[in-house]
Amino acid sequence: MAQMDSATGGVFSRGATRFAPSPTGELHLGNARTALFNYLLARHAGERFVLRIEDTDAGRTRPEYIEGLLADLRWLGLEWDAGPGREDAHGPYFQSQRAAHYAGLFARLENLGAVYPCFCTALQLEASRRAQRASGRPPRYAGTCRDLTAQERERHRAQGLAATLRFRVPSGQRIEFTDLVHGPQSFLSDDIGDFVIRRADGSAAFFFCNAVDDASMGVSQVLRGEDHLANTPRQLLVLAALGLPVPRYGHVSLILGPDGAPLSKRHGAASVREFRERGYRPEALVNYLFRLGHSSPEHALLGLPELARAFDTSHLGRSSAHYDEQQLRVWQKSAVHQLTPEQARGWLAALLPEGIAAASADAFVAAVAPNVVLPEDAAPWVRIVFGGPPVLEPPDEQVVREAGPGFFAAAARAAVAGASDPAAITDAVRTASGRKGAQLYMPLRLALTGCRHGPELGPLLKALPAGEAERRLARFA
Ligand code: GLU
Repeated sequence: MAQMDSATGGVFSRGATRFAPSPTGELHLGNARTALFNYLLARHAGERFVLRIEDTDAGRTRPEYIEGLLADLRWLGLEWDAGPGREDAHGPYFQSQRAAHYAGLFARLENLGAVYPCFCTALQLEASRRAQRASGRPPRYAGTCRDLTAQERERHRAQGLAATLRFRVPSGQRIEFTDLVHGPQSFLSDDIGDFVIRRADGSAAFFFCNAVDDASMGVSQVLRGEDHLANTPRQLLVLAALGLPVPRYGHVSLILGPDGAPLSKRHGAASVREFRERGYRPEALVNYLFRLGHSSPEHALLGLPELARAFDTSHLGRSSAHYDEQQLRVWQKSAVHQLTPEQARGWLAALLPEGIAAASADAFVAAVAPNVVLPEDAAPWVRIVFGGPPVLEPPDEQVVREAGPGFFAAAARAAVAGASDPAAITDAVRTASGRKGAQLYMPLRLALTGCRHGPELGPLLKALPAGEAERRLARFA
């Protein structure tokens, strides 16, 4: 159904979801999941996905956080239909650029008598809260400036006191809505104090701009953190006063660390940038986040279109989700297994020494990628393959010596003749020594790599620089 934007007169042919981050820090897993869920909900329902930057807190907003946020969302594949860089008639999509739009709505609320200027200082407000707490009442605005006369307001202004603008919460109302995750909700307006919608510096406050922007941008569904559930009745009051459309809200449970505390830096990597820099794949993160607080019968690594098809708000859990890096690593493993040779090369490129032959680099990636979860796991193999013949530990040297010089002479000869063809080497050694199975492979593996375990020997042999296999084998001939 077309939705009317009564503030700007715009008409929306389709509904929308949105992600509305405050750029006061790096994008962390919790927000990345909120972005993903809104993206999937939009794609599932054929709606638009809007990105709005809530940068009204000039003191805490930093341009590098905005840049980082956009880069992280793009890296995850969560392209937005409207937002920064994709402006349309319903923008701008930075709240810091929407002052003119807000001014009209503030004026409307003033004309309706739904708001009033408040001259209370931070100190006065704090004293009032303390007094309420002391007498066992929940702290809320005491209404000090609610009924000031025009003369009193003038007097305050003349004294140079800056005013905030407060929303006049109607008394005796029940505010009800059905949350997409938590079901029916009911709040009493008498429990809500009059709240600030414009700060003393003139900037729009969260309850106001978050709500009216959703209306102006045609947002029909909102998934956001559970910490905003208690804000919703205030936002509904603002929208009702202005006669603006109300989105359906769903409040998603928080992500907790293994110790039960909200996920944060001290649980290890928490920002998307850190995961990216450690070599996590976007597909792995997206698949992991999809299952964090959203149950699904789908157990395979899925692409975004498939995830969108499977996304269902009725599968969002009410209890907190627990972050578990081991689970993320499982998805990472699947993601690495599905890399194309070209993607795998790009993924490990930074580790490879300069100047190695392209064929050797390709063979290395093919040999090692299936065995590692993160690029850091491949670093020891770079040293083993490209760092010259490995030094053996005494027990390993013993295994090699026991195989005998004839074993390695045959192996080295086959390495020269067969240009490091693994089958040629093992055939030659089998014939020369009569050994088979581990008796055959372990001395070879140790002489070539210095390790008892690791990627398959055949592909590794192909990665060794020219002449290197022979050199390593001939040491023991
Ligand atoms: N800027 C708010 C935040 O980052 C948005 C809340 C919402 O999604 O409505 O928490």
